[in-house]
Amino acid sequence: MKSSSNRITAIVCAMIVCLFAGVASAAAPNIGVLIYKYDDTYISTVRNALTKALDGKAAITMQDGKGDQATQNDQLDVMISKKMNGLIVNMVDAQAAAGVLEKIKAAGIPVVFFNREPNLDVLKTYDKAVFVGTNAADAGRMQGDIIKQIWEGSKAVDLNGDGKFQYVMFKGEPDNPEAIARTEFSVKQAVEKGVVMEQIGQTFVCNWDTALAQQAMESALAANEGKIELVIANNDSMAMGAIAALSNVGYNIEGGGKFIPVIGVDATDQAIDAIGKGIMSATVKQDGEAMGQAVSTIILNMIAGKAPLDGTSYQYDDSGIAVRIPYSPFMGK
Ligand code: CA
Repeated sequence: MKSSSNRITAIVCAMIVCLFAGVASAAAPNIGVLIYKYDDTYISTVRNALTKALDGKAAITMQDGKGDQATQNDQLDVMISKKMNGLIVNMVDAQAAAGVLEKIKAAGIPVVFFNREPNLDVLKTYDKAVFVGTNAADAGRMQGDIIKQIWEGSKAVDLNGDGKFQYVMFKGEPDNPEAIARTEFSVKQAVEKGVVMEQIGQTFVCNWDTALAQQAMESALAANEGKIELVIANNDSMAMGAIAALSNVGYNIEGGGKFIPVIGVDATDQAIDAIGKGIMSATVKQDGEAMGQAVSTIILNMIAGKAPLDGTSYQYDDSGIAVRIPYSPFMGK
């Protein structure tokens, strides 16, 4: 009896030793994460999702590029010198990806780029690189579908009764592929669905920024009082700026009254709150959680020497190197 209990004790001890040895030998990989800027609502949801998904599976070092590519380049150099096992990169300037990739490739580190899309032909030159993004045109098309729904939902939106939907457009950065696609496909889709669209003024390029959008909307309202029937914004931050300007002149105030439909993209907490209050019409949801989950799963696979999409339900698009996380519409009642 005694010897048997001793044996059990010995076995349990051996198991515990094995457990500890297991933890020690499978040391968590070091993953460097470069973010284009922390001060971006949507990217913050991705950051949180990444941190959560990698918790206990990797040691993360995350850096804020603060919207400056030179800063991000320096941060990359440090990550490489620290011999990270894997890198996750959200480019400040997607056009600068070739140089960034060159350094990562020379160091032989697996990398997942996400959100801001580098030239995929450049990315293809490195067999340890994957891109996780969305289909930029889809967000625009979804806005176009929403425009049609709003147009058909109420005759009251045609303020001047001319059968055309007069809109203002807020664009992110001038050369950003997502901004270009959203700007183009939102209107194109609405037109294809039978809505006659007419733009008021120039496209307002506001770099995704709330304050810039508010200023532009204030000028637009001053110059076109009563002529604007719809606000289309490439993201929710700019939509919020437009709503702030509208509320200053008595539109889109909680509790009813004069209202101009405003549509954004991202489904930020602020936008969902505004839609709930009835001061914004709709947004298009970029699933930051799903994005963070996909990026972390893929980089862990690559670090483990597996195929990037091993054990996942993700699929590459036609490029053979990019995974696209789908959008979904989010509308008020
Ligand atoms: Ca009209």
